Parts: sequence; C-alpha cells; structure tokens
Amino acid sequence: MPLVSVRSVLPPGLRLNAVARVFGCLGLLAVGLLCVLSQSAVAGRFDYELRPRQVAPDTWLVEGRRESFSTTNGGNIVNVAFIVTDAGVVLFDTGPSLRFGQQLRHAIARITDKPVVLVINSHAHPDHFLGNQAFADVSIGALSGTTTQITQNGDSFATSLYGLTGDWMRGTEVVVPAELPPDNPLILGGHRLRFLAFEGHTGADLVMLDETTGVLFAGDLVFYQRALTTPQTPGLAHWRAELDQLAQLDYRLLIPGHGPLDDTRQAINQMQDYLAWLDATLSRAARQGLTMTQVMALPIDPRFDAISLTRYEFSRSVAHLYPGYEEAAF
Ligand SMILES: [Zn+2]
Repeated sequence: MPLVSVRSVLPPGLRLNAVARVFGCLGLLAVGLLCVLSQSAVAGRFDYELRPRQVAPDTWLVEGRRESFSTTNGGNIVNVAFIVTDAGVVLFDTGPSLRFGQQLRHAIARITDKPVVLVINSHAHPDHFLGNQAFADVSIGALSGTTTQITQNGDSFATSLYGLTGDWMRGTEVVVPAELPPDNPLILGGHRLRFLAFEGHTGADLVMLDETTGVLFAGDLVFYQRALTTPQTPGLAHWRAELDQLAQLDYRLLIPGHGPLDDTRQAINQMQDYLAWLDATLSRAARQGLTMTQVMALPIDPRFDAISLTRYEFSRSVAHLYPGYEEAAF
C-alpha cells in the first residue's frame, strides 16, 4: 500500500478559524510530531541495517538472515562480501533490491574511501544481483550463462520478489552484468583472484577464490545452516560432484551464499550429507511409487534439524525434482 505522508493530506492554504486558533498551536505541534514520527518510521522500515564485519585481511562480510523472503526482511537473506584492495573495492553480489544496493554502497563508503571498481554477480537469483542498479557506474561481471539468464528472466524474478517483499523493492530495475575481467587469475591491488565456473545450483554458478587471503566466495553453490534451494539445479549428482571439486581447493575460510561463514570445512560436508540424503530419499520414494504429497510428508532425518527452513525447502525440492525421479523410475 502506498505510504501517504501527513503533510500531503492537509489542504493547501489551510486557514484557521476561531476554534482552530485556540487549539491551532497544539494541533500544529501534533501534526509536526506526526510528520517526524511518520518519516522516521518510513526511514526505519526500509533500513536493512547492513553492518559489514571484517572476517579476513581486507575482507568484509554482510551476513543475511537465515530466513525466506518476507515483507519484514525485505529480501535481506543473502550474504554479500567485499575486498578492499589497494586498487579499489571488489564486491561479490549486490543483494535483493535497489535500496539494498544503495545502503550497501554507503556501508562500504563508511569503511573505505576507495571506490568500488569491480562487482561480481555469482549467479542469476534475484537476491544476489538486484542491487546492481546502485553500481551501474561500475564494471559488473558474471558468467555468460548468468548474463543470459538475467537477460531472459531478470524482470520476472524482480516481479516475483516484489510480490514477496513489497515496497522494499520500490524503484528496483534489472541491470544486466557484462563479462568477467579477461584475466584469470585477476591480480588487482595486491590480491590474486581466481574465478571458477560451476553449474550445480543454477547451471551458471561463479565461485571466487582470493588466493592472497585464502577466502573462498562460494555463492549459492554452498548453503550452510540454511536449507539449500533447488529450483534450477541441473541435478543433485551434478551438484555433489562439483562440491567434491570445491573441497579440493586450497582455502581457509568459506563464505557461503546463505548462512554463517565456515573456517572448519564443515559447510561442504553438510551440503554433501544433505544432498546425498535428498537424492536417496527421492529415488527410494519413486521406486515405491509414492505420490508427491506423500513424499512431502516423509520424515526428515533429525541430523538436519539444526538447519533453518529444512521442511520448507524439502517440500519445494520435492516439487522441483520429484517428477524427474518418477520419470527415471519408470
Ligand atoms: Zn541462489
């Protein structure tokens, strides 16, 4: 619903009559107070409260909530991170909206006076790239598959996110990323950044390894303590094979697309464990001829209880994936 300020409902040229003169001062004071309150309520309502925290040398994380999209969180369920190099800031993902991107840019400017010189979009899901608009004057790079997906589906992603989060999205428009820098690894401002292309989550999933600090920016190839999402996976076996490759990389700190950072190498293990369980559960159900509704009601192994939103995302994964398992069983 559009917000109407108190000021806009007062008729222009309001003239005080005799009664109003008596109460006028108090009334105007009250109206003034209402104006102040309503403006601060609006400002507060759309404040993502982004607080970057340093997690490694030159490296900052803005951690999203372990929730699904809502009008309360405005889509702030995603991790974005940035590296302050000597040559400027490299930003990994831009969040779910124009407002988020603008507030992120301010948050970065409070930490460094260096400009943002490169933005990376890890993949084409709307919570990761719809803040691009606030960085439209900066080089934005992504895998070509991501650029294609955003060109084709970006508007419908933005519309559906608007439906889920409401006015947080106001003014948000799709800004399509360009190509990645031609150098790989890219040496920039004292950091050596390697870009790796995977497919398991959406068909085009970029991972960035800062070989200088050992920080792995995993995007949504890795969810940690928050259930993974499967609407566009090319297949669970494919995803699991890529996680094996990811585990071989020489890193010391992993920043997942969602959930807390991981310096104990547990996040990939948790992903592998859940994906193996999900794959086996759907295969077995298809062999038994269960209906989709029956599969959604199956118990979830208690070892996944601590992962946020497991039941919710399991139901969604059944809807996305079970028809394929049924087909394979026939
Ligand atoms: Zn995603």
